[in-house]
Amino acid sequence: MPDIACVNGRFGSLSDAVINVEDRGFQFGDGVYEVIRTYRGQPFSIKAHLTRLERSAQALQLPLGHEPAQWTSLIDEGLRLSRFPETKIYLQITRGQAPRDHPFPLDLAPTTILTFRELRPLEASVRDAGVKAVTIEDIRWGRCDIKSVNLLANVLARQRAKEAGAFEAILIRGGMVTEGSVSNVVVVRNGAIQTAPEGNKILSGVTRAIVLELARNEGLPVSEDFVSREDLLTASEVFLTGTTVEVLSVVEVDGRAIGDGRPGPMSRLLSARWSALIA
Ligand code: PLP
Repeated sequence: MPDIACVNGRFGSLSDAVINVEDRGFQFGDGVYEVIRTYRGQPFSIKAHLTRLERSAQALQLPLGHEPAQWTSLIDEGLRLSRFPETKIYLQITRGQAPRDHPFPLDLAPTTILTFRELRPLEASVRDAGVKAVTIEDIRWGRCDIKSVNLLANVLARQRAKEAGAFEAILIRGGMVTEGSVSNVVVVRNGAIQTAPEGNKILSGVTRAIVLELARNEGLPVSEDFVSREDLLTASEVFLTGTTVEVLSVVEVDGRAIGDGRPGPMSRLLSARWSALIA
């Protein structure tokens, strides 16, 4: 089965999908996106993703072009056509096509793109061993809560992580941990779970919210306060949350072992609770 794309409501194979060179998404990164995954073939937390998509679009004065029910039916149709065991669904909405100029015409029809690709889960051995991360200065703009397609700082950070042999780049702003380049970052210190608060310095992760709820349900203390880089390095556990990483232990940061260098008990507990939730 080929990867599928849907451009402005028309389905076809991903390799044939095209957009105009004057699309503002291409010219300016003037657009928003979401990544949704399936579990057992069903899109997971679709409502939360579509709510965040609307919030991102509103913040950019970008009309989305579709109501939630229309997105849902496009997603259902894409899944029906692609029929992968599990699918990574990518939605991108740009401001549309116009002669290149920074200010935007208010009456542009947005460009809507959905792609459907096979999702291959992270290898169990990687998950069991945990991953390495490196810290990198967070040079992103002041609205990291908007899931915009302007990802250059994230791209450079993740590339640096890759070149350092690490899985993720943990971003540091003013000495404090904000999030990862593609994930939220959670630490365990003195038996409590701590992660950066929602606001304009992080993306409000769909997975983050669910994992914090799972932790609270377990009676674990949770605080939504920034953690310093020093506290990150001396944390007893660090883990990442995100649609594709789920709950993923970090066992080394900047070459220093976290805890005993293996996934810790709280990360393992929350990972198990996550697995139960999606089973
Ligand atoms: N933070 C950033 C910068 C991300 O790109 C992502 C996911 O793409 C996340 C956090 C995690 O968000 P979610 O759990 O909604 O996938």
